[in-house]
Amino acid sequence: MTDCIFCRIAAGAIPADIVYQDDDVVAFRDIHPVAPVHLLIVPRKHVANLLELAGHPDGVSLAQAVLRAVPRVAAAAGVDQTGFRLINNCGEDGGQTISHVHFHLIGGRSLGEKLL
Ligand code: 5GP
Ligand code: ZN
Repeated sequence: MTDCIFCRIAAGAIPADIVYQDDDVVAFRDIHPVAPVHLLIVPRKHVANLLELAGHPDGVSLAQAVLRAVPRVAAAAGVDQTGFRLINNCGEDGGQTISHVHFHLIGGRSLGEKLL
């Protein structure tokens, strides 16, 4: 078994609070939430980061699977009417700490502190 923590969560080998899953994507609650809703949307396939996803032969279909999952995850978390923020941290300066591409879906409160 891989030592990638998100691969292990996607495989059900370690527990997570999963709110949505399909054949390509799993979404679960972040262990250190920064807002009432803080989910991670993760392709099941191990791809290290957004740049690698963009260059991957299956990258477009994986990105499409993530995009398709967004409204379903937002609805499952109860933020489809109120709005949310979707964030990808890529690489060292981007603050990425887990080398398996993922998208933070954050909401459940007004997110006033905008970076830009
Ligand atoms: P990054 O910093 O790479 O953009 O985001 C990684 C996120 O994964 C962090 O927000 C961190 O709290 C979360 N995280 C790290 N380990 C685990 C874990 O074992 N389970 C869950 N649910 N989240 C995790
Ligand atoms: Zn992985």
